[in-house]
Amino acid sequence: PLDPDAMFKQGFLNDVYNERPSKDVFTRFPPEPNGFLHIGHAKAIAVNFGFARHHGGKCYLRFDDTNPEAEEEIYFIAIEEMVRWLGFEPYKITYSSDNFDLLYELAEKLIMLDKAYVCHCGDDELKLQRGGEKGTTPRYRCKHAEQMPEENLQKFRDMRDGKYKPREAFLRMKQDITDGNPQMWDLAAYRVLDKPHHRTGDKWKIYPTYDFTHSLCDSFEGITHSLCTTEFFLSRTSYEWLNKQLVEFQPMQREYGRLSIQGSVLSKRKLKELVDKKYVRGWDDPRLHTLIAVRRRGVPPGAILEFVNELGVTTTNSIIQFSRFEQTIRRYLERTVPRLMLVLDPVPVVIEDADEFDGTELTAPFSPKNPAMGDHKIKFTRTVYIDRSDFREVDSKDYFRLAPGKTVGLLQAPFPIKATSFTKDEATGKVTEVRAVFDRETKKPKTFIQWVAAGEGAGSRKCEVRLYNTLFKADNPAAAEGGYLNDINPESEIIYPDAVIESGFDEVRRRAPWPEAAGEDKLGKGGKESVRFQGMRVAYFALDSDSTDDKIVLNRIVSLKEDKEK
Ligand code: ATP
Ligand code: MG
Ligand code: MG
Repeated sequence: PLDPDAMFKQGFLNDVYNERPSKDVFTRFPPEPNGFLHIGHAKAIAVNFGFARHHGGKCYLRFDDTNPEAEEEIYFIAIEEMVRWLGFEPYKITYSSDNFDLLYELAEKLIMLDKAYVCHCGDDELKLQRGGEKGTTPRYRCKHAEQMPEENLQKFRDMRDGKYKPREAFLRMKQDITDGNPQMWDLAAYRVLDKPHHRTGDKWKIYPTYDFTHSLCDSFEGITHSLCTTEFFLSRTSYEWLNKQLVEFQPMQREYGRLSIQGSVLSKRKLKELVDKKYVRGWDDPRLHTLIAVRRRGVPPGAILEFVNELGVTTTNSIIQFSRFEQTIRRYLERTVPRLMLVLDPVPVVIEDADEFDGTELTAPFSPKNPAMGDHKIKFTRTVYIDRSDFREVDSKDYFRLAPGKTVGLLQAPFPIKATSFTKDEATGKVTEVRAVFDRETKKPKTFIQWVAAGEGAGSRKCEVRLYNTLFKADNPAAAEGGYLNDINPESEIIYPDAVIESGFDEVRRRAPWPEAAGEDKLGKGGKESVRFQGMRVAYFALDSDSTDDKIVLNRIVSLKEDKEK
């Protein structure tokens, strides 16, 4: 496998480090607590926390909580949980709002430096100042830019004291409107907003903007490498400008490309609609691409990190097919999880001459490829369940599983079996039982199939299995006719309510997460989703959070092989 630190040793992140090599690397992951994190954020977490870890530095988790309108308590909790789930420990958890007093002081300082002014212009006027509709008319400053610092200071204090309504006044930085970069055209620094803040209560009636807050907070925390996504490229100039006016320590901002999954619906509004209208089971529905959903589905955190590492970090945005992500997950699971026998749609097979083996204990390895995973005992029984799809009523030459007169191997079993007859429910047309005998002659059947022992003492368990396919039919559901809700794939979730799993499941559950999985022993402890296994010949599965001691619910994480059709 690829060196897990490859992305820090070469390319973009290595260059960024070399621009400012430091013994004390400080980075930060600065989410706005206004929604659940998604797969793209996993890249930001891997980049920021990973960069610090790789260079022996420290990474803050900083909640960028400057907009009380959009922020909610549950998001703070969920975000921190996801960072830890991915295996990172924040050096400190901080909040932009911790600095509201200091930011306010610096805003006054900026005013007194004649580098900020209180403006009363509306949106239409601002547009004209910035070059009109097409940006082709000359840019200019409004008369408020000529106010004296003392006047601006008074007005700013009035803003603070609630003497203006929202939009009646805002503080603007006095940058350089002759610069070709729009981020230098006197950006907003503070806005009037009479909304209580979850940490500062109703202390503030004005709140700082991202452009004013971010660079200063980076400086306060001594961030050496402020890594953000490329849409902030032009903001780098204003970022540096502001820090130069006001603070000693100058952090360095550099921009990397965003990660998106093709066709993935991530906007909060759309996700909320899917949840509210019950198209999905919740914000953590395994078909969604929020990180809580990816976790519930059973994707190991290590596989996500491996995926980010494999893609590498550059300055281009990448839109990746979900199938490519699945490919990495599959490879990761292949080497890290045990194997068990699971039958989705069971049909009983009575092996008429198996009396002497009824109840015999067999030894099954947890992984034929990795003996270190050990083995476990399973009981063989005279009646076993096989999957409906492994039996055919009529044999044919190019078919190699069970059919009348045809022999198939049963994994680990004493002998292959040959079907002799079957019974059918006339009403449903479904096969209800197959009769078979041991085929003691055939040493090497063409195919071996999985089976699960039947009967009380066998230790097998019933379970509900949920298979997932893409939630939407189109690659770009947003562009689908009638909108994305019209594009829901009716087969996005297929449920097998009567599946059966072999007795080894109990041990797999007890031992999860399997220490053989790279680094996995430290990660995601305790979560049901860390009970993962390969259902031989079926797919990779994880225990769903809906499970109880009595009821097993399994999610398909990924199929064993890439699906050709969707
Ligand atoms: P979204 O609008 O998707 O929620 P955002 O840009 O608002 O994303 P924040 O919640 O503020 O994101 O994100 C915290 C950090 O995560 C930011 O530094 C942001 O650049 C980064 N980030 C967000 N989305 C992605 C992505 N798709 N790929 C890589 N990094 C991302
Ligand atoms: Mg966001
Ligand atoms: Mg944001």
